[in-house]
Amino acid sequence: MILADYDNRSHFSPQLMLEIQSLSAGYRHALALEDVNLILTAGELVGLLGPNGAGKSTLLKAVLGLVPPRTGRVLFQGQPLQRQRQRIAYVPQRSQIDWDYPITVQNVVMMARTARTGWLRRPSAASRQIVAEVMTQVEISHLARRPIGQLSGGQQQRVFLARALAQQADLFLLDEPFSGVDKKTESILFRVFADLRSQGKTLLVCSHEWGESLNRYDRLLLLNQRLLANDTPAAVMTLENMQRAYGDGLPGSRIENANALFCA
Ligand code: ADP
Ligand code: MG
Repeated sequence: MILADYDNRSHFSPQLMLEIQSLSAGYRHALALEDVNLILTAGELVGLLGPNGAGKSTLLKAVLGLVPPRTGRVLFQGQPLQRQRQRIAYVPQRSQIDWDYPITVQNVVMMARTARTGWLRRPSAASRQIVAEVMTQVEISHLARRPIGQLSGGQQQRVFLARALAQQADLFLLDEPFSGVDKKTESILFRVFADLRSQGKTLLVCSHEWGESLNRYDRLLLLNQRLLANDTPAAVMTLENMQRAYGDGLPGSRIENANALFCA
């Protein structure tokens, strides 16, 4: 559902998932996000696009409360985030994970369950069942006892997707999940996204790359510190928008690609 629909039918407010109001956030020496306003509703698959350094990861972290807002606020299902953090699943950018950490695939996925019960208690039968199911869903069951450092990039991405699924959240935030993954992983990711969406879950997925697969999203957001566009894929993926977001740093070949992809 796009923003205009939501505004016209605001009596459907139970569908409201996430509301970001006038959010500015950043780090000691730099502002990364400026005056971002955004509404996500239930059952939406939304892409967050922008060049490296645009603030995409910071936006996800601000939603999770990992980066505090300088101004503005974030509401989850109409309430402040506190005590609801468990309803939001987060798949960090692969480069932010320590792949040398000695932990098996199965234990990473189980972390989503032990966050509730604590490490000291043995996971319940229900938790073990959920972990087994999500590992089957993303096709990593055969890797259960392998250390995470021994996996391919695509397999690693699926492990963290499985962990997010095991959390049984309502909102899923994924940071560059398609970066450096194989075709098989890409198709599994899109299959899982479609499943979640049909269950009324909401997904916000970051990408710095442009390509035809962006047409699979319900809505795209274009970010470069500020939110530059928020519309259907066809309306957002224009050469003009790409130049607005990526500026002069855009290599010529990428512009030709953009022409081929979006202006045909
Ligand atoms: P993106 O995910 O779109 O590549 P980021 O959110 O990672 O962008 O970064 C946005 C801006 O904030 C960049 O200028 C980046 O250098 C800066 N930044 C990100 N993380 C930190 C940090 N931990 N400390 C200081 N500056 C940071
Ligand atoms: Mg990032």
